[in-house]
Amino acid sequence: MITCPNCQSKEIGKIGTTQFYCWNCFIELSIDKNIISVHQVEEDGSLSSLNDLFEEEKRRMG
Ligand SMILES: [Zn+2]
Repeated sequence: MITCPNCQSKEIGKIGTTQFYCWNCFIELSIDKNIISVHQVEEDGSLSSLNDLFEEEKRRMG
């Protein structure tokens, strides 16, 4: 079970093998080696990383 590092919501939709989407705060999450990377989808469809906003401890799964 994934919890959104940003809003702690559990309403996470799966959009790819390792990619997820938070329906609550509309950010994209991807998982690599049990660390959740956080991305914001820009208006032009590109992704910008929000990892700097979250300590790695908070992005670790489990
Ligand atoms: Zn969220």
